[in-house]
Amino acid sequence: MAKISVLIEGYVNLKEKNEIFEHNCTVVLIETKGKKIIFDPGLDRSALLKSLEKHELKVEDITHVFLSHNHIDHCLLMGIFPKAKVCTSVHFYNSNGYGKMIPEVLGDEVEIVHTPGHLQNHYSLLVNNEEKQKVLIAGDLWWWAINEEQKVDYKSLINKDDYFGKDLNQTKKIREKIIKKVDVVIPGHGKSFKINHKEK
Ligand SMILES: [Zn+2]
Repeated sequence: MAKISVLIEGYVNLKEKNEIFEHNCTVVLIETKGKKIIFDPGLDRSALLKSLEKHELKVEDITHVFLSHNHIDHCLLMGIFPKAKVCTSVHFYNSNGYGKMIPEVLGDEVEIVHTPGHLQNHYSLLVNNEEKQKVLIAGDLWWWAINEEQKVDYKSLINKDDYFGKDLNQTKKIREKIIKKVDVVIPGHGKSFKINHKEK
């Protein structure tokens, strides 16, 4: 069983303030069989370092960084972990070069799931946590702005809009499929939530 910790809860402030658009993605730590994997390091360096410190970790302790997609609010800090393999769905990279992603890289407790729509190359991770729940670390398959109400019934979840997404119909299709398989979702921006399987 993997231990999953949300290091930073992602947010999006759609209101422009002095032309600065405020956002950062949800940053998640997955600890599994000696590996320490960061899902989406985000862009706020001081918040990330502070959160690592709280977990008694240094940047050197992180063994892997997995990127859901190449939007900068998710991947700006990918290079700050000197010993980590930076992983996409296809390759992993470190200072020596790159290799092919095979299931062994992240280990058998972590499944990479293709979740296209926000971008065609968008991936989530499916992980069993210590409470034996199936947790989807979703990236921007779901995200909410800070002033938006987070409705988590089936219908609202499937139909949630995505202003910055490329193909909402594709997103809806993959949401509908994946929602049946998971217990908990950690979205790209917003609060983690449980799926209520009794409705539908
Ligand atoms: Zn995002």
